[in-house]
Amino acid sequence: MQLVWFRSDLRTYDNAALLAAMEQGPTMALFVACPKSWQQHDMAPMKQDLIRRRAEALKLELAALGVPLLLVEGTDYRALQSVFTALLPLGIDTVYSEQEYELREQQRDQMLQQWLAEQGVGWWQCDRQCGFAPGSFVTGSGAMYQVFTPFKKRWLQRFAEQGVTVLPRPKAQPTLRIPSLALAVMQPGDHSSAAWPVVQDTLLSQLRNYCQQRVQDYQKRRDFPALDATSRLSPYLALGALSVRQCIARLQFEAGDSLQQADSGASVWLSELIWRDFYKHVLVAWPDLIKHQPFQADTAAIRWRNDPALFQAWCDGKTGYPLVDAAMQQLNQSGWMHNRLRMVVASFLVKDLHIDWRWGERYFMSKLIDGDFAANNGGWQWAASTGTDAAPYFRIFNPVSQSERFDPDGAFIRTWLPALAACPAKHIHWPHSDTMVKSYPKPVVDHAQARQVTLALFQQARQQN
Ligand code: FAD
Repeated sequence: MQLVWFRSDLRTYDNAALLAAMEQGPTMALFVACPKSWQQHDMAPMKQDLIRRRAEALKLELAALGVPLLLVEGTDYRALQSVFTALLPLGIDTVYSEQEYELREQQRDQMLQQWLAEQGVGWWQCDRQCGFAPGSFVTGSGAMYQVFTPFKKRWLQRFAEQGVTVLPRPKAQPTLRIPSLALAVMQPGDHSSAAWPVVQDTLLSQLRNYCQQRVQDYQKRRDFPALDATSRLSPYLALGALSVRQCIARLQFEAGDSLQQADSGASVWLSELIWRDFYKHVLVAWPDLIKHQPFQADTAAIRWRNDPALFQAWCDGKTGYPLVDAAMQQLNQSGWMHNRLRMVVASFLVKDLHIDWRWGERYFMSKLIDGDFAANNGGWQWAASTGTDAAPYFRIFNPVSQSERFDPDGAFIRTWLPALAACPAKHIHWPHSDTMVKSYPKPVVDHAQARQVTLALFQQARQQN
């Protein structure tokens, strides 16, 4: 019997491991919840809940293919060997899975692969988390791209030459029955992610509807957080409930020729999917990033001020900067934050409060329903000017002008900050001069002064190198 081990590929379509196993013969499947390991990654409770709910839905979807999915409650990765020990008497021939790029996951796989080989069990793995696998294209000198624009150019060239392949859902097998085993059954989550659907057909229609009806205006509307203009598919891409190739292929099918126009909504959305690939390629090429090292080594010398009270004000959305505070409320209450705001609050933490970007990176992971190491680390290092192709350190977002520009009438701010709900439009971006607004916090820093401190911190670090 073949065994498919589901991890970050919780889907039946475009799943190479599932397809390869079922081509070989009768197949069963396994998913193990590992809350201790998830906690080591600071995984948000909401993301943990979404994973559990998605795994339950996957069980039904696999049952329709005749494939039984065992949902096991585990602890951490070290305990996985005992799960496999319980399964081997069923006569497992080969374990199939999709590769994960993070360090602990790689170590887990190496250990299990070796142990399974000793038990006479085969190991089959595919590398399909990206549109094009890390390492499948490199610069002329054989190195990984460090700058997004040439990476994207090469990616698009590859796309024009060969497109992306989306694998079909496998044909059903005669229903396979397995005896009950002495393994702990996966527990339900806390339902904190209930607002996010988990059934595969629903997710596929969300993707289809987005590409048919909304992507056209993406380039015009995507930066305005009060508008529902982005896809909100990130949690599903993070879980592998949808694959990036499914997104690309659907976009290509629905957008047709507009995908070739550089400034069309479709091509700008594709560009975001390419950013996702970029950060994963970067992570594979520089595995030390997983140890939270800055990509630009000289920035390790920056002496962040790391004031705990300022950090807490940021986490709680009480900085006195309305757009920053509203964004943090969106994160804290919904588990998701708009991309423009991720950039604004990250810049504010690092360049206005002078707090180490790693504190923010960790806080994001602990709250985000779409937490993804590569994208999160890439986004934080970009904002902190420590990463590949990062924002230059002297380019510092002004949180008030960002607010005026991207939330002009304050609709987003009013949604998330009840204290400012009645604030007149002329004061919404800086309510401290409005005597009517009493319950809103005073600004914790002066942006113009903070900016000068940031410039000095970066310059000092440069002089030390
Ligand atoms: P859309 O605008 O509809 O984009 C489609 C998809 O493209 C997204 O679902 C996502 O998978 C991918 N994508 C879009 N922008 C980026 C980007 N800049 N980098 C990498 N992939 C991107 N994204 C995560 O998925 N997980 C994270 O943990 C994460 N942390 C971030 C932290 C910071 C500081 C910043 C600046 C960005 C972060 N992003 C992260 C990227 C981006 O903000 C989200 O992917 C996006 O907001 C998700 O919303 P959406 O699905 O509506 O995106």
